[in-house]
Amino acid sequence: MALIDKFGRPITDLRISITDHCNYKCVYCRTGNEGALYADLPFSEYLRMTRILVGLGIKKVRITGGEPLLRKGVIDFVRELSKLPTVDGDPLDIAMTTNGHLLADMAHPLKEAGLNRVTVSMDAVDPDRFARITRVPNGYDNVLASIRAAKRAGLEPVKVNCVLMRGFNEDQIIPFGMFAREEGVIVRFIEFMPLEEDRVWSPEVVVTLDEIVQRMNEYRPFVEIPHERSETARRYRFDDGVGEIGIIAPVSHPFCGHCSRIRITSDGKIRTCLFSIWDHDLHGQMRRGASDDELAEFIRGVVQKKEQRHHIGEPDFVPASRTMVHIGG
Ligand code: SAM
Repeated sequence: MALIDKFGRPITDLRISITDHCNYKCVYCRTGNEGALYADLPFSEYLRMTRILVGLGIKKVRITGGEPLLRKGVIDFVRELSKLPTVDGDPLDIAMTTNGHLLADMAHPLKEAGLNRVTVSMDAVDPDRFARITRVPNGYDNVLASIRAAKRAGLEPVKVNCVLMRGFNEDQIIPFGMFAREEGVIVRFIEFMPLEEDRVWSPEVVVTLDEIVQRMNEYRPFVEIPHERSETARRYRFDDGVGEIGIIAPVSHPFCGHCSRIRITSDGKIRTCLFSIWDHDLHGQMRRGASDDELAEFIRGVVQKKEQRHHIGEPDFVPASRTMVHIGG
């Protein structure tokens, strides 16, 4: 029987973090220091968790981190995942979110192993600004080369995620509009969420959907196009049909009512919401020798605890128990 939470939302998407190590220190995500790290698990354990979840109705798996391409063996992991059929007998839809620093040489082997799509994070189309945000010198050329390599490898549609922060990169809206058109990628702006290690979030720093739409319209007219109910991004096209932009607006236009996601952290905890204040120790159950059926029962119980919505910006907002890098975005 499919996983459905107590608010009637079918749970069909899994995001699995395979490490919380990262080679970038993006200002909206990390501190400038290394910070705490949780244990990575062997791939065989992520595979078992995913197999059980796929047996419960998961149709899409997104591999994330930390930086997933830092994990040796990730290509073989993708190959093993691609052997898991969904309950409908369809192939599992496998995607990855990466900072792209190491992707250029791995794009083709990842595609061959069964990866369908890739999302690359890139927060400026200007090398200096990019370095200021990622706190890594000379990463820009690698990431640009990776985006192009991903396209050549057929990891399409290639999506480029950009977190806008006032004072850092809000002037990149139009340059990214041009980039989407020139490179043939879907650029997705993400509203900055209070999930960073440095706790610098405030509503004033968030560049909202309305502001992005208004600014982009000054460049050239663009219109909203339909999106799937469970899709996080609102989708837009320019008037001449060239270039697609997505806007993920969890702060100004929350989409919790359609949330179909569940997450597994790199240390094997289930999180039912990015903003959960607790997590559920699936790996602990495994370590204690639970059978597959017992783990499936545990997962069903956890899904019933999925939060109705987040409370960002409300007086009763309680920060999540983990930051984004330790959850897996
Ligand atoms: N290292 C990979 C990367 O850079 O894409 C995967 C992990 S990263 C945590 C996943 C996504 O979360 C990235 O697209 C990143 O931009 C986004 N992200 C991180 N912190 C965020 C925050 N505070 N608000 C919104 N998005 C955030």
